Parts: sequence; structure tokens; C-alpha cells
Amino acid sequence: MGICIVCKKEMSDADVTTCTGNTSIKYPDGEVLKPVPYDPKKSHLPKWFRCPDCNVVPGGMHHPNCDQEYCPRCEGQLISCDCFDIEEDSK
Ligand SMILES: [Zn+2]
Ligand SMILES: [Zn+2]
Ligand SMILES: [Zn+2]
Repeated sequence: MGICIVCKKEMSDADVTTCTGNTSIKYPDGEVLKPVPYDPKKSHLPKWFRCPDCNVVPGGMHHPNCDQEYCPRCEGQLISCDCFDIEEDSK
């Protein structure tokens, strides 16, 4: 799985239960929100199930760029939601 860029830990290591570096999300307009912890129920997984993408435990913070992390603003998938798209070209 590789080493996380913010907490510098091996993501596949069973001892790594949360990302200690994932403490806030900054949006392009300057708003800062708390990241949403991993909740297997949201992904329709058993409640003991570790994150299928970044391997943190339920209630832990995802490592950045995890495809299971939700956006606290729009509740969509964080890596693909529109909150980070800055429209620089006005049509
Ligand atoms: Zn991490
Ligand atoms: Zn994750
Ligand atoms: Zn969003």
C-alpha cells in the first residue's frame, strides 16, 4: 500500500489504526473543516471492517487521498467532490 505522505507510516501495517496527520481539510475558499472519520456503515461494510482503501480502523482518520473518505462539506467522496474545483475560467 505504501507510506502515507502526511503521517509517514506504512498504511498496510496492522498497528497503524489512524492517520495522525489527517487533522483538517482546507478548502479553496479558506474554509477549514474537520475530516470525517472512517465509518464502515457508510460503505455498507461490517462494523469491524478496516478501510478497504487505506486500512485504518473504524473511527480512525483516513490517510489522505483515500477513496473511502467523505467530504465534510458536501458528504460526497472527498477525492472526487466538487469542493476543490476552482473555476478559474469564467465562461
Ligand atoms: Zn497517514
Ligand atoms: Zn481510508
Ligand atoms: Zn465536497
